[in-house]
Amino acid sequence: MTGILSNWLSEMHIDGLLSRNSEAPILSFEFVPPRTDAMEQRLWHCIRHLAPLAPRFVSVTYGAGGTTQTGTLSTVLRLKRETDLIPAAHLTCVGATREEVDGLARCYRDAGVNHIVALRGDPCAGYSPRPGGYAYASDLVAGLRRIADFDISVVAYPETHPTASSPDADLDNLKRKLDVGATRAITQYFFDSEIYLRFLDRCLAAGITAPIIPGIMPVSNYEQIVRFSAVCGVTVPAWLRHLFDGTAKNPELRRIIACMVAVEQIRTLQTYGLNEFHVSTLNRSDLTYAIAHVLGVRPTETNASHNLTGLLETTEIPHDRETPADFDPTEGTQEGAPPFMLRTLFG
Ligand SMILES: Cc1cc2nc3c(=O)[nH]c(=O)nc-3n(C[C@H](O)[C@H](O)[C@H](O)COP(=O)(O)OP(=O)(O)OC[C@H]3O[C@@H](n4cnc5c(N)ncnc54)[C@H](O)[C@@H]3O)c2cc1C
Repeated sequence: MTGILSNWLSEMHIDGLLSRNSEAPILSFEFVPPRTDAMEQRLWHCIRHLAPLAPRFVSVTYGAGGTTQTGTLSTVLRLKRETDLIPAAHLTCVGATREEVDGLARCYRDAGVNHIVALRGDPCAGYSPRPGGYAYASDLVAGLRRIADFDISVVAYPETHPTASSPDADLDNLKRKLDVGATRAITQYFFDSEIYLRFLDRCLAAGITAPIIPGIMPVSNYEQIVRFSAVCGVTVPAWLRHLFDGTAKNPELRRIIACMVAVEQIRTLQTYGLNEFHVSTLNRSDLTYAIAHVLGVRPTETNASHNLTGLLETTEIPHDRETPADFDPTEGTQEGAPPFMLRTLFG
């Protein structure tokens, strides 16, 4: 062996790379509540497929605009009843009274569901707090604390919430949410790891010590993500566009790229000492499973034996599609309904 290759192999580079990547990360998964029987079947297939990977917790989003609360509630309660997974219920306060929100929180408490992802939610038009409701997520966190000793997650925005008055005001808001009782923050998805790392620096400088878990959004439907990102204020880097250029008619290639991008993003962050990630599944298990597998997250004897009796009754596995199944693109066009894009993300 001569030249540069022998030099490379004789040094520590490869060992370094391998050991750096050898530790499997801790993952949590996010699901969207079903609105039809077909979606429900697909969701439970997804849960059954991913459960043996022993995620730290699995969260179920709350319908955009405060809708589909029954879908979230019944999914979370079923997860609690029929699996050994730790369910986390997303709960928004937009458009609801305190009594309504507190009532739902008590339902979770009484069913032994201990983890709540507390959010304000998005209104259908410009935001104004509902009279008698919790105005912001920080108010909701304080309210939840009065009800039970919940484990509360909140969300954080590495690129700043789109309607925040300034990045500093948004960071103050995150600190407020943690100070009144949240245990951790899960971030809005991002593609440029440097953006997250700079945000982490700002959190540390502001005295935030709670975990800020990176939110990972695997991208197989590139055009859809570009539209989401424009609304959420998330930067889509040119390299991502370049990767998806010319792939519109090749969903298989897109899934491979999606897996590669998510793995690379997580591995990059692992080199900075991060080891916990929250993955948005959009109820597609094959992509999430592939990402976890490449990262070294494997089913083990113990975690494969999750109590999945109810789930195993699900028979046919619906094939994962590029666009989340059964989301109707015409939905949300009627007045007062959340836009399709929010429904796709949160149900
Ligand atoms: C990981 C993740 C999961 C999500 N899950 C869901 C879901 O399940 N269902 C759903 O409908 N939506 C969900 N969302 C979207 C979320 O509801 C929206 O981003 C929403 O616009 C803000 O929610 P928040 O909890 O961050 O709100 P808040 O923390 O209340 O902040 C909202 C805005 O108000 C500002 N603000 C906060 N407090 C004050 C104050 N006292 N005075 C003035 N301004 C203030 C903040 O800076 C920010 O601009 C999710 C978002 C993420 C990142």
